[in-house]
Amino acid sequence: MKIQIENLDKIYKNGKHALSDINLEIGSGMFGLLGPNGAGKSSLMRILVTLMKPSSGTANINGFDLMNDRGDIRKILGYLPQDFRFFTKLKTWEFLDYAAGLSGITNKTLRSQKVDEWLDNVGLFDVRERSANKLSGGMKRRLGIAQALIGDPKIIIVDEPTTGLDPEERIRFRNILSELSQKDVIIILSTHIVGDISSMCNNLALLDKGKLEFTGAPEELIKKTKGHVWQVTTSGIEYEMLKDKYAIISTIPSEEGWEVQLVGDKLDVKNAIEIEPNLEHAYVYFMEYLTSQNSF
Ligand code: ADP
Repeated sequence: MKIQIENLDKIYKNGKHALSDINLEIGSGMFGLLGPNGAGKSSLMRILVTLMKPSSGTANINGFDLMNDRGDIRKILGYLPQDFRFFTKLKTWEFLDYAAGLSGITNKTLRSQKVDEWLDNVGLFDVRERSANKLSGGMKRRLGIAQALIGDPKIIIVDEPTTGLDPEERIRFRNILSELSQKDVIIILSTHIVGDISSMCNNLALLDKGKLEFTGAPEELIKKTKGHVWQVTTSGIEYEMLKDKYAIISTIPSEEGWEVQLVGDKLDVKNAIEIEPNLEHAYVYFMEYLTSQNSF
């Protein structure tokens, strides 16, 4: 499985330059697309799932061309948009049965098996007779996950995966995706939450203001941050000074004042100790200090 994106650009009708010269190769496994709100993640997702055309550039999705083979691409895709909503009187199982039909499962017995299997996978079996639009927010999100995955897609694209899920549901969702990623599929997760990426993705891309700022393994990004993360115990006055000079990651009250973790380019604070960076530190360091500062 491979997705090859070349020189992709998107300029909206209002002149907004949402994606600028994106070049990216994505192989099998779980891939994280990380960036703040407005970075261009949804625009890129919508282009890849053929809901929107790029202004220029190309993408090849497992041998299919983004512009010429849209039908073929749709057959191997499962997509869970950020604002998955449905207006239906169908019962939960009927909705899933309908989605399975759309994904090309025509055999009724097989479809019924698949529906039961996925109702169980996402924990909705007990509410299968309930009208889909009467489900709670988290349950609707889970139904969204099931409808995206029921057709055994080769490429799975999930926009802001954990929005609206409680902690237990997040774990369940992560487990479903982890299991799927053992197969020869590509899973792209787009998120602004670092925690969604760190535990699951073997590769990631960082997007900011429509530009690709980094692509590679999370460990590579973390390595670049080594020597730029510190911990310091400080009083209130000093804290204000630190806030101006550094990106503060966390502040925990301690007996002597505050225990602060900070990220910066150069250290200019006494008694600070260097600490091992994690992906959250790396993300903040990149966004604050390394991304190209020019906006569109
Ligand atoms: P993200 O998913 O990372 O939050 P988006 O792709 O939604 O980013 O948006 C990227 C930029 O494009 C933002 O500045 C957003 O306001 C703008 N944008 C998104 N959709 C449209 C649209 N349909 N028309 C004009 N501008 C848009």
